[in-house]
Amino acid sequence: MDTLRIKAVAGVPFLLSASVLWVGGLTSRNTLAADAAAEALARVLIVTGEDPHNWRETAPALKALLTKDRRLHVEVTEDLEFLADPKLHDYDALVLHFSNWEHPNQPGKAAQENLQKAVANGTGVVVVHFASAAFRENPEFRKLVGRAWDAERFGHDPGGKFRVEITDVEHPITDGMESFETEDELYYGLTGKPPITVLAKARSKIDGKEYPMAFVYNYGKGRGFHCPLGHNVKAFETPAAGELFRRGTAWAAGLSPVPK
Ligand SMILES: [Zn+2]
Repeated sequence: MDTLRIKAVAGVPFLLSASVLWVGGLTSRNTLAADAAAEALARVLIVTGEDPHNWRETAPALKALLTKDRRLHVEVTEDLEFLADPKLHDYDALVLHFSNWEHPNQPGKAAQENLQKAVANGTGVVVVHFASAAFRENPEFRKLVGRAWDAERFGHDPGGKFRVEITDVEHPITDGMESFETEDELYYGLTGKPPITVLAKARSKIDGKEYPMAFVYNYGKGRGFHCPLGHNVKAFETPAAGELFRRGTAWAAGLSPVPK
């Protein structure tokens, strides 16, 4: 079987190879769970639990669409304080699906620095929709998300249908993907300076200009994939949008975007 490349392998018994599990006397149920985890090549954590959006509906929807790639072992935490936990470093990719807009300094400095350290050291980061507005008073977080929600520009088209143009067919994430129509919020209020590679764009009906709908960047050694789509469950149900999130997450976790 594949040797696990998951960072957590050394410290998490249930991720050990199924061939040695019986030695520990685990129950068959645990063995099955271990088998499922052992098949995975990357450990992914969706961080949610606070957002003006309906995260209680969208987080399970996002988990379901990511786990269609069986290489991804996807967990969810609804506790933003977990960002301060040393275990954060055990994951291959962190999917930021929250926005503490009302409490931008909670969790505090230790959590924000731990998140920055994990990504700088090589953990991938995926930014979903309003997560670009989390920790909005922290300039370093703005770099970590590549482009951040700019309160001065308050920005998105009213919810509705629009076309997402795949603009980079060379990048492995969007290789072979076609432009598509979705029903969502089109964010035009993201700003920032870090170099990014834009993979997809859409044109705002407000100002007639095009804005990135998917882009990649680096934060230290970490790979960043930022997709501002995902206002509600319906938005995630657009198959191509789901494909973007799934491929982007695999890529951020260090895998090929599509299983080979
Ligand atoms: Zn929204």
